[in-house]
Amino acid sequence: MDRQQEFVLRTIEERDIRFVRLWFTDVLGALKSVAVAPAELEGAFAEGIGFDGSVIEGFARVYEADMLAKPDPSTFQVLPWRGESPGTARMFCDITLPDGAPSMADPRHVLQRTLAKAADQGFTFYTHPEIEFFLFERGFKPGEQPTPIDQAGYFDHVPHGSAQDFRRAAITMLESMGISVEFSHHEGAPGQNEIDLRYADALSTADNIMTFRTVIKEVALEQEIYASFMPKPLADHPGSGMHTHMSLFDGDSNAFYEAGAPYQLSKTGRQFIAGLLHHGAEITAVTNQWVNSYKRLWGGGEAPAHLTWGHNNRSAMVRVPMYKPNKGQSSRVEVRSIDSACNPYLAFAVLLAAGLKGIEEGYELAPETEDDVWGLTDSERKAMGIKPLPASLSEAIEVMEESELVAETLGEHTFDFFLRNKRAEWADYRGQVTAFELERYLPRL
Ligand code: GLU
Ligand code: MG
Ligand code: MG
Repeated sequence: MDRQQEFVLRTIEERDIRFVRLWFTDVLGALKSVAVAPAELEGAFAEGIGFDGSVIEGFARVYEADMLAKPDPSTFQVLPWRGESPGTARMFCDITLPDGAPSMADPRHVLQRTLAKAADQGFTFYTHPEIEFFLFERGFKPGEQPTPIDQAGYFDHVPHGSAQDFRRAAITMLESMGISVEFSHHEGAPGQNEIDLRYADALSTADNIMTFRTVIKEVALEQEIYASFMPKPLADHPGSGMHTHMSLFDGDSNAFYEAGAPYQLSKTGRQFIAGLLHHGAEITAVTNQWVNSYKRLWGGGEAPAHLTWGHNNRSAMVRVPMYKPNKGQSSRVEVRSIDSACNPYLAFAVLLAAGLKGIEEGYELAPETEDDVWGLTDSERKAMGIKPLPASLSEAIEVMEESELVAETLGEHTFDFFLRNKRAEWADYRGQVTAFELERYLPRL
C-alpha cells in the first residue's frame, strides 16, 4: 500500500467513516456510485471492486461485462451532507477490465490519455469553469414550465434572497470538500446563478465539476427547491453555459503568455485558439451533447453561435479575457460554447485535443472579430469567412462522424457508442409533434 492509501485508511478510522462511496462517470456524464464497507478498501486499492459494466451507459457489451472500479486515493473526501459520525466518504475511481487494462469507455481515462499527450509535449493543462445553473420551485410536472425561485438578474443582490442563502450553503459545502470557489453571483435569467471554481489541473477540475453537480442537487433538496443544469430551460431567457478558461503551463511558466504581444498572448496561445476554431464544429456534439443544448447556442443570450474569437466579444466562441498588468501567468483563453450539462472529462479531452492540434500543425489564427457577430447579416458573415457552430444535435453529429480528431481522442469504443446514442436521441426528438406545432398549425391547417 502506498502512503496515500494508508492515509485514507487512517482517516476512515479516525473519523468513524462507515461507508465509502466509489464514484465514476458514465459516457453521458451521469455520476455512478457504489458504497463499500471500509474493510473492503484494501482489496479495492489492490484489485478494484467488480461490477457489471453492461448496465452502465456506454460501458460494455453483455459478453464482456465484468469491470473493476479502482479508487484513486488522492480524491478521498468526506461527504459533508451525510453528517458527522458515522460518516460517509467518497473517492473517484479508474475503471479497468479484469486483466487490469484501463477501460476504453471510462471518461476519466479518455481525459487522462489526452493529458498524457499534452505532457509528452511538455504541457500541463489547467482549467477554470464558470458553472451556470437554474433554481426552480419544486413540484412541477414533466413537460411543464418550471417557476424560477426569483425574478432577479445579473449581479443582483436580493435582500434575504433564497438564491443568496443557497449560494452560501453550497460554497461552504464545496470548500469543506477542498473545492475552492472564486466567484459566485446571480446570473442574467430569473432563478439563474453562477459559481466559478478555482483554477486546477483539468483532471481535478473535471472531478470537481462532478462533485459540484452533486453538491448543488443536495443543497437544493435541503432547501426544498430544484436545481437544474439543463442548457436552456426557459425559452425567453439566456441558457446555462459552462464557460471554461484554459491555459497550458510549461513547468512553472504559462505557455500562453508573452510580454508585449497583443493581449499578452504567445504564438502557442494563438495556435491553441486556431485549433479550437478549426475543429470547433467537430467537437461540439461532445461539448454540447443534448438536443436542448442547441436552443442555447442560438440567438444571443451571450451564448455563441459562430466559430470566431475576440478580445472583448461575448458573441465569440473563444474570448481572450482582459489581462491584468503584472499578472502574465494568468494569460488564458475562455471557451464559451461548452454547456453545464456536458460530460466534463470528454469535453475537456476534445477541447485540449483541438488546441494541441493547432500547436502541432502550426495553424494560423484568423483575425479576431470585434463586431457583434449576431448583428451581422448572413452574407456579411459569409464575406468575412465566419462559419456557424452546428445549429442542431443532428448537424453536430454529422460533423463529428467525419472527425479523425474526435475518433482518436475518444477512442473507437466511446466514439461509436456516443454517436449511436446521439443518433437515437435525435430520432426520438424528430419523431415528436411539439406544442409549438399544435398551437401554430392546428387552428389554420
Ligand atoms: N448564460 C450565458 C451563456 O449561456 C453566459 C452569460 C455570461 O457571459 O456569463 O453562455
Ligand atoms: Mg456567466
Ligand atoms: Mg465568462
